[in-house]
Amino acid sequence: MEMNYRSSIERVAKLIKESPLFYALTGAGISTESGIPDFRSPGTGIWEKVDPFATSTVHVLHENPALFYEAGFSRFAEMIQAEPNRAHHALKQMEDHGYLKGIITQNIDSLHWKAGSRRVWEVHGHLRTCHCQGCCQRFSFEVLVEKVAGGQIPPPCPRCSGILRPDVVLFGDTMSPAFFEAEEVLRKGCDLMMVIGSSLVVYPVADLVRFARKLVIINAQETNYDYRAEVVIREKCGQVLTDIVKALEE
Ligand code: NAD
Ligand code: ZN
Repeated sequence: MEMNYRSSIERVAKLIKESPLFYALTGAGISTESGIPDFRSPGTGIWEKVDPFATSTVHVLHENPALFYEAGFSRFAEMIQAEPNRAHHALKQMEDHGYLKGIITQNIDSLHWKAGSRRVWEVHGHLRTCHCQGCCQRFSFEVLVEKVAGGQIPPPCPRCSGILRPDVVLFGDTMSPAFFEAEEVLRKGCDLMMVIGSSLVVYPVADLVRFARKLVIINAQETNYDYRAEVVIREKCGQVLTDIVKALEE
């Protein structure tokens, strides 16, 4: 059913107030307003420039580390400079005000963390640390960036003869412990899930939607789950989330 923007915002605020167990599921689209390209937006998505399946996979990391660190790595190194936008800040406020119980994010950009959100499951990892594939020792992500920038490719571990890698879930990796934790939390009860900036085509994360009793989707493009949602808002999430926070205060 078509609803105008204002009544959609009010309906979402009402759903939030009625839902003790309210969670957000965020994707790359929440960070485009911070200057980080997503994968699938027409015209600006990363997919239209490089194919992450060809450069950012476990297979490439192991078989062709030079390609991994030369072609796929620069977008990681750039991402750590970004700052949270008003969508991230709005979610932090919703948590502060006692509405939002946690954020499950597919993003590796640390922007929920930088915005100060406390309960965040970064199910695809993050770019604050890296680790050695030999001795498993963790280092700050800057150690890895410095080695790559200095031409040490593949980047060696400062302690052993192993190779460093980012603490993110690549295509072909097993899922992170954070993913299984988030799954357990949602299994215990999720009255309302708000999907923000995700095309919901990356699995197994998209499967988490099945735990939601009610669903709200805020995404610029259509998704395959729109038919299941109580409310779908196809606008930029920075404005939408700002308006929802205002409506919650009214
Ligand atoms: P996706 O690129 O598949 O989908 C993003 C969706 O967000 C698109 O449908 C687009 O229409 C929408 N969108 C873009 N800007 C928006 C805005 N301002 N407001 C509302 N909607 C907007 O992203 P995905 O579903 O997260 O899957 C991509 C995978 O790639 C994820 O698993 C993620 O780990 C990774 N990734 C992460 C980052 C990051 O950390 N910022 C960036 C690119 C990719
Ligand atoms: Zn090592």
